Amino acid sequence: MICNLCPHKCAAYKDKDTIGGKCGVSANIKVARIAPHHWEEPVLSGEKGSGAVFFSGCTLKCIYCQNSEISADNYGVEIAPSVLAEEFRKLEVQGVHNIDLISATQFLPAILRAFEIYKPKLPIVYNCGGYERVETLNALEGIVDIYLPDFKYSDDALAKEYSGAENYTQVAADAIKEMFRQTGRLTVNEEGIAQRGVLVRHLVLPNHTRNSINALNILKENFGDDLTLSLMGQYIPHGKAMDHPKLNRKITKREYEKVLSHLINLDIDGFAQELESADESFIPLWNYEID
Ligand code: SF4
Repeated sequence: MICNLCPHKCAAYKDKDTIGGKCGVSANIKVARIAPHHWEEPVLSGEKGSGAVFFSGCTLKCIYCQNSEISADNYGVEIAPSVLAEEFRKLEVQGVHNIDLISATQFLPAILRAFEIYKPKLPIVYNCGGYERVETLNALEGIVDIYLPDFKYSDDALAKEYSGAENYTQVAADAIKEMFRQTGRLTVNEEGIAQRGVLVRHLVLPNHTRNSINALNILKENFGDDLTLSLMGQYIPHGKAMDHPKLNRKITKREYEKVLSHLINLDIDGFAQELESADESFIPLWNYEID
């Protein structure tokens, strides 16, 4: 296939044995971990966990990515769509609240084949960096119930420098608009577990509160009262960011509270992470093995 799945539009040739494009993976599904996951937002993890599928590779190359072993170094195991379908079934049997597809876009055609084989009777979560093509998201209509995109940047220069993405702000805003068109605002069941809709995440970076404040402004302007936001304060320097002069530390309490008070002033619904969760122990282990 010629791959133009994400906004990079690499037009790279890929097949099951050929790696290509900025994401650096082949057309075969590759996964690093499949397991119940308890560290998503409470509406997703609940008590039984989210059925997380961590895909290898990523369309963004964030220099501070906490999962760089899989997103940049592409650690993982290749599996067929039929095996992924079986993994969906196993997670469902384990009683998770949803199937959480984490960084999946680079494998989308093969993942759609897995859903043709088995579609779990659980909400399907599309957990992504927000840098998506509307045309690609169209293929997920009727399959994905909950979109969980990041909105990382209000500043395209930062997006280019830190994540290698051109025109991030407009591209991500357009993608989130499409996600709202498909699924609407976030709804939960009587147990408080998300069933459908959009939950936007924003990670506060050290030395970049202005980026965060402008990002919240853009989200509020575009999505108004439909917006549910998860403000994340768990940034820890990782990978290349450890040597970056602006990214080589955790965020301060003052930085986080500045962004949080702006969120409250804008009257945005959602979740705010406690700063105490900025701890390496929240990074899952990459341990996928085929039975
Ligand atoms: S999914 Fe990968 S190969 Fe395809 S357009 Fe995006 S970065 Fe390029």
